Amino acid sequence: MLDYLQADLDKRQTQGLMRQRRLLDSPQAEHITANGQPFLSFCSNDYLGLANDPALVRALQHAAAEAGVGSGASNLITGHHRYHDQLEQALAAFVGKPAALLFSTGYMANIGVISALMGRDDAVFSDKLNHACLNDGAFLSRASHHRFPHNDVVALEKLLQASTARHKLIAADAVFSMDGDIAPLAAYLALCERYDAYLYVDDAHGFGVLGPQGRGSLQHLDLQSPRLIMMGTLGKAAGVAGAFVAGERIVIDYLIQSANSYIYTTPAPPPLSAALLASLHEIEYGDARRAQLFAMIALLKAELKLTRWQLWPSETAIQPLIVGDNHEALALSQYLQAQGILVPAIRPPTVPVGTSRLRISLSAAHSMDDVRKLVSVLHAAEAAVPAGIAQ
Ligand code: PMP
Repeated sequence: MLDYLQADLDKRQTQGLMRQRRLLDSPQAEHITANGQPFLSFCSNDYLGLANDPALVRALQHAAAEAGVGSGASNLITGHHRYHDQLEQALAAFVGKPAALLFSTGYMANIGVISALMGRDDAVFSDKLNHACLNDGAFLSRASHHRFPHNDVVALEKLLQASTARHKLIAADAVFSMDGDIAPLAAYLALCERYDAYLYVDDAHGFGVLGPQGRGSLQHLDLQSPRLIMMGTLGKAAGVAGAFVAGERIVIDYLIQSANSYIYTTPAPPPLSAALLASLHEIEYGDARRAQLFAMIALLKAELKLTRWQLWPSETAIQPLIVGDNHEALALSQYLQAQGILVPAIRPPTVPVGTSRLRISLSAAHSMDDVRKLVSVLHAAEAAVPAGIAQ
């Protein structure tokens, strides 16, 4: 087996697909120290600049002193702490749903929910660009899995029409993690009514950013229905870690009984929930942070004038700069790095072949000078970075 693994690693290296980790020596922020060097970072999903916020740190320290650091047991034994419970109730109220359930990560939420709600006689319908963990959830559920072209409501309707499944679930990212665009969720919900389906919305990148007071993509689009189940992650705009699922009380009660990634695991430490309660307060009263974030988005779009690479149309904090070739995307990312700027190169299989890109993510913690620096280095890169090798 080791020979096989080495051959695979070598192949990735020659194709420009090797992924690298960096060692972070500073708090997560717009100015970080990675591998011992200072960088201006456009890598993180900390869209509101909360990951390093003193109010959250204080809440966590206070709760750790009071409640300790370990959850000790799974939720259904003795691990469900008062802080977890308070956070679940606060999150449900915040997103306007009857109930919510905490998971340790968004990944665990997606695999747990889809595999619990769907079974052999059911069907899951997923956007082709959905996050990997929605697909993994569909796979684990053993339901039939139908993937439709990105945001294609007509193709989805044809699949629903043809389906004879017992239960049907449409699963979609609300804001696509590598593209930044928003799914046509209102049209999906109308299809749910017509074909007796349910809609599972992964709002990893909308929660905290979109909608009134950052209540998320569903409130941004003004969508409400008992057919809606939403998942929000707490490690992105909320600045900490974890995720929640919100929906009808029956759905949450059922998940408590049947979602394996909820039942058979130790919940995140209670102090994280305390930090998240503080985060929720910052999100709710965070209009100034959101205004700063949207000002940075507008500045980037207005000032970046490239001919060689294209910013994909996106109104959110995720601004993909499409390069195409894997090697060229990597060379551009490395050029920026040499100039002290970190922007990750995203390559297949994370994105479709031929669409390798730089995923620029903006934050309320960025200043106008930060964004202008990125723009000027990208302008210089057009002449400096060699073209990719045709694949
Ligand atoms: N869904 C989407 C759309 C994501 O982008 C991510 C994280 N990249 C997740 C789910 C997983 O969330 P977590 O990092 O909390 O596991």
